[in-house]
Amino acid sequence: MGGREKPMEYSATTQERSTRSVTTHCPYCALQCAMRLNITERPQSAPSITVEGADFATNQGRLCRKGSTSAELLTGRTDRLTTPLMAVRDEDGERTGEFREVSWDQALDHVADCVKAIQQTHGSDAVGVFGSGSLTNEKTYALGKFARVALGTSQIDYNGRFCMSSAAKASTMVFGVDRGLPFPLTDLDAACTIVLLGSNVADTMPPFVQHLQGAMAKGGLIVVDPRRSATAELTAEGGGFHLAPTPGGDLALLLALANVLFEEGYTDRRYLQQRVNGLEDFRRSAAAWWPERAQAATGVGADQIRFIARRLGSAASRAREGGEPVFILTGRGVEQHRDGTDTARAAISLALILGLPGSTSGGYGTLTGQGNGQGGREMGQKSDQLPGLRSISSEADRTHISAVWGVDPKTIPGPGTPATELLHTMGTHSEDGRPGVRALLVHGSNVAVSAPDSGRVLKNLRALDLLVVADFFLSETAAEADVVLPVLQWAEEDGTMTNLEGRLLRRRQAVQPPSGCRSELWIFAELARRLGQPTGFPIDPAEVFEEIRRATAGAAADYSGMSWEKLDSGHAGYWPHPSTDAEETTDAVISQTTGPRELTLSGEPIIGTPRMFESTFAHADGRARLSAIRPRRQASPQADELTFTTGRLMEHYQSGNQTRRVPALDATHPEVTVEIHPAAARQFGLEDADYAVLENAQGSMRAKVRLDETIRADTVFAPFHFSGEAAANALTRGLTDPHSKMPEFKNTPVRIRRADSQEAAS
Ligand code: SF4
Repeated sequence: MGGREKPMEYSATTQERSTRSVTTHCPYCALQCAMRLNITERPQSAPSITVEGADFATNQGRLCRKGSTSAELLTGRTDRLTTPLMAVRDEDGERTGEFREVSWDQALDHVADCVKAIQQTHGSDAVGVFGSGSLTNEKTYALGKFARVALGTSQIDYNGRFCMSSAAKASTMVFGVDRGLPFPLTDLDAACTIVLLGSNVADTMPPFVQHLQGAMAKGGLIVVDPRRSATAELTAEGGGFHLAPTPGGDLALLLALANVLFEEGYTDRRYLQQRVNGLEDFRRSAAAWWPERAQAATGVGADQIRFIARRLGSAASRAREGGEPVFILTGRGVEQHRDGTDTARAAISLALILGLPGSTSGGYGTLTGQGNGQGGREMGQKSDQLPGLRSISSEADRTHISAVWGVDPKTIPGPGTPATELLHTMGTHSEDGRPGVRALLVHGSNVAVSAPDSGRVLKNLRALDLLVVADFFLSETAAEADVVLPVLQWAEEDGTMTNLEGRLLRRRQAVQPPSGCRSELWIFAELARRLGQPTGFPIDPAEVFEEIRRATAGAAADYSGMSWEKLDSGHAGYWPHPSTDAEETTDAVISQTTGPRELTLSGEPIIGTPRMFESTFAHADGRARLSAIRPRRQASPQADELTFTTGRLMEHYQSGNQTRRVPALDATHPEVTVEIHPAAARQFGLEDADYAVLENAQGSMRAKVRLDETIRADTVFAPFHFSGEAAANALTRGLTDPHSKMPEFKNTPVRIRRADSQEAAS
């Protein structure tokens, strides 16, 4: 399987003269499966589009249900937004809940006039911007530039703060740079052992499971999850292992595994001596977590902890002697806690003491969720960041970016407010006394459903002086907007995405958008002109990509050696790719290393750095940084409470704004369910298929009961894709990790009761 991405193909046949195929990538998750859209133009009606998986390294021809139905949203939709909308207000200025259609000039003039008036009265930071890990690199980059240059605001952040920020922070702290997988996904194929913590890939990205098959066949798949998820179920095939710690127990479990590895001499001493600082600090903190103590804190037996540690240590020892590699992977389950950064750091530390990262013995990686979750977190829409993973607080970085943008470095605002605080203080005041934003421009995000404490977010959205939402369907957030701007969908525009491997991909236009829709690039340019910034906002994605190359040159996430044309013609381009390394080769150009390793991506022309850290890490001294990790004490649920944890279903993506509109996906899981152990259900008087009400200080949700003997009896689970009374985030809190500011979605105390007849019928 070569995995080479094929360029655009327009292949008309004699039978169907207007049928053509375009190879592109799925609009949803970060696996970015390649797909072929076969488009048949039909006179006087919308084209018919079929989808098939295409040969590509991550999906190897397969698609999940979301990907294979993705084209259903492209044509023939009556709910597609096709013209700008403005909210209708009554004589008292109150919203009526209705919208009226307006022209683009009317909509953009109104937005610009309101922004100017708000900023004149309340200052530049009174206007905020909220972005997304689903936008292309070009739109993400332009959004960050638009906020800092055209609006002059520091108040920009994005929904990736909810998804990946703890692992990103941990990787930056330990390795010096954040790339989700610092190796090609296909490296997993040869593994004898894979430890997968807090990720249910069998449901969220099913084609990924192909890359676990090797480890599964060798009995080496170890899944850590409080639930017996579909991925945990895979451990039954071939004799793998499922550990089910308490929600939030992953950190103590990881430290206990490290404890055993230290105590029993499984660490890679030579690697640690040559490549890692801070070993003693980490060793001392792990020493506090002997297996029996961890058993009490996690619910995982001490004997099982020792067994898994020995198995892991033995596998890593064999790998050092030329055996099959060992990988440790993390997902959102370990991150969406108040100590998510520390937990991800503990997973990386475990990999380091085994000598895995950057060696032939294996590696550590974290699984990015959103389609452009990787590119989205390095293009400058984070509150503290400039393009290329540059810091907005660094004078050198500000100087470089200001030269690319053609502005005085002093005019670039400083760090803004991270997403949760931004949303929880808008229309009000933040905890440190700074005023919350009075206007918010939202792109590619449905915060009314996806943000923690969504009831508070909804209330704050309604308190804004101006809410502008760019979307292609009327999401729950767009329904609250003063102005709704209809934008383009994935297959209606060109761009680039960066997948979970740090590999750049070309997203290709396959169909014409509705005539009333516009690209965000055009919107930023038009608004910038109205706000007095007439130049510097190109609307051609290829032109924006060229600017990204200049902006990221010399940065950690360096795209400067990439080329739109090479990506278009099927090159596998992995950042960092400095322009000095622009020579193409069938082997890797390893910019940070002494030389290329044998690659499994044979036959693909590769540019950039598929495998990072082979000789150095990204800190100035080239060494990884271990340090002490000490779990913070967290309050246990009361006797009448359970621990509520949220997650995803196979059929739905993020807030469900797209997938809930696909009939086949909606029919499979039409309403929210809450998974509860039969013993807990008996305690609270619930039976299968009852309706239950879950409630706490934040709010309440109603869900259909699904009895599940495999979930922990102290834990309940519900997906977060639904809205209104079915919104799981009505219960989650605004508590965040102190390092990453990522919200705690996985550990919320709730009470549960049977819904009364009126609630059940609602
Ligand atoms: Fe692949 Fe993810 Fe799309 Fe499914 S949603 S087809 S796993 S990219």
